[in-house]
Amino acid sequence: MKVLVINAGSSSLKFTMFSMSKQSVLCKGLIERIGLKSPRFVYHRQGDSPTEELLNIVNHNGAMQALCHKLIDPEHGVIKSLSEVEAIGHRVVHGGERFTKAVKIDQTVKDGIRQCAALAPLHNPPNLEGIEACENFFPGVPGVAVFDTAFHQSMQPEAYLYALPRDLYKKLSIRKYGFHGTSHKYVYYEGCRFLGLDPKKARVLVCHLGNGSSIAAIEGGKVLDTSMGMTPLMGLVMGTRCGAVDAGVVLHLIKNGYTVDEVDVILNKKSGLQGVSGISSDMRDIEAACLSGNSDAQEAFDLFIHRLLVYIGGYYLLLGGAEAILFTGGIGENSHATRKALIDALAVYGCELDEEANKKRQVNAIISKPGSKLVAAIIPTNEELMIAQEAMELI
Ligand code: AMP
Repeated sequence: MKVLVINAGSSSLKFTMFSMSKQSVLCKGLIERIGLKSPRFVYHRQGDSPTEELLNIVNHNGAMQALCHKLIDPEHGVIKSLSEVEAIGHRVVHGGERFTKAVKIDQTVKDGIRQCAALAPLHNPPNLEGIEACENFFPGVPGVAVFDTAFHQSMQPEAYLYALPRDLYKKLSIRKYGFHGTSHKYVYYEGCRFLGLDPKKARVLVCHLGNGSSIAAIEGGKVLDTSMGMTPLMGLVMGTRCGAVDAGVVLHLIKNGYTVDEVDVILNKKSGLQGVSGISSDMRDIEAACLSGNSDAQEAFDLFIHRLLVYIGGYYLLLGGAEAILFTGGIGENSHATRKALIDALAVYGCELDEEANKKRQVNAIISKPGSKLVAAIIPTNEELMIAQEAMELI
């Protein structure tokens, strides 16, 4: 069975084609700068070197046409006919309260995704364009929408409500939704499988640390709490996003003459590691600057760790203890300095770092010492595979 996974952004379309019998990737790539100057098509067939082409692509329909052409190309393609694709899984950013799990796409679902666009105006509309482009080129092939927010819908009101007037929740749907749900779900189940934990009972902290970062407290496959909020701006310190700040800061900025758009740019694009270090949003640059004694970079790194520890401590308590803490995302999978700084502080929970294991670049690896009460492990995320699996299960 072949499943195509599509992640359509405002000017990009990422794709992965899976053969589900072996859960293997046949090809993947992206089309970027859609509708902008010099759109680029990067295509990587398993076993070959990636190729790059500049094509004139003005919208998602054009991107889908180019992709279909490539998929069935006699020389570079991976299928003989588009009819070999049995399902298409779409990443959709916001499912609001309406979508608590992946769903087969029909007109009602598309209307629902459109309604949720009020909560994700930059993401849901292009997600929908990707869905409609697929409908044009793969008529009759079932599409499945997999929502970034869905896994977190198991949160209870005490976790998802803000202490604001209830009217705002009722009228404007203002509450915590959480994001990276597909990644948290994949890492939770893969981590349980790898560590031999019962996913119906396990208590796990999943740290998805990348340019965007979030942590989730998960018990028995249900999210008790997660650090992102109504938007992906909340919570941990990120590459350029501030994470948690006093809402009064926003008021103060506006009262001091900053426009709403300027505040938006400050909080989303000029804060986080970038804003505090003044050097870079990239953890590799921060670590290098720390080693060369840059004190602003060191403060950015320390703030990143401090914030994480505050969440880890709170979530450990909410879970009533935990069997595992799992690291994923570009930083979680690769930055041994981050993992060391965190795990050194987790001795209080019975977690002791295995320095050697932590330094190796590994896929699925335990990095705490044998006998640790709280086991620490690296579990690389695979959102595309999770989407493909959910699509396959639904059809
Ligand atoms: P992501 O958004 O998941 O792709 O993660 C991107 C982040 O991972 C960036 O901050 C990178 O600096 C970080 N990253 C990737 N490789 C490494 C590495 N070897 N050491 C430290 N950070 C890394």
